[in-house]
Amino acid sequence: MSDKTIFQRIIDREIPSDIVFENDAYIAIRDIQPRAPIHVLVIPKRFSARLDDIHDSSELGELMQTAIQVARSLSPDYRLTVNVGKQGGQEVFHTHVHILAGWENGPQGHL
Ligand code: AMP
Repeated sequence: MSDKTIFQRIIDREIPSDIVFENDAYIAIRDIQPRAPIHVLVIPKRFSARLDDIHDSSELGELMQTAIQVARSLSPDYRLTVNVGKQGGQEVFHTHVHILAGWENGPQGHL
């Protein structure tokens, strides 16, 4: 069995996904179980398990810039979320930023 994460398998085209953006360093795909009318995941191709494993500030900045760029291409207003660790709600241990958008009256519920 492969020990690649599901996102690595998507990057490697081993499993299909709905890609909304891709360059050398990032891929953005639609979440398979959307929690908002627009729900996209921005995934760095360079592997790290969780956000706080990235210690390079330019790498962190570039991830945020890419998430903003993709988000703005989808909606003028949006929410960015990063779940870090099991207790932080992270299920896939390959760093990713959630873009959530498209509500008529803004997000309901949690922060
Ligand atoms: P997190 O809980 O922050 O780790 O988020 C993982 C996200 O990945 C969840 O919102 C899942 O719905 C999503 N997900 C899992 N498998 C896939 C897949 N094959 N394609 C797209 N999104 C996926």
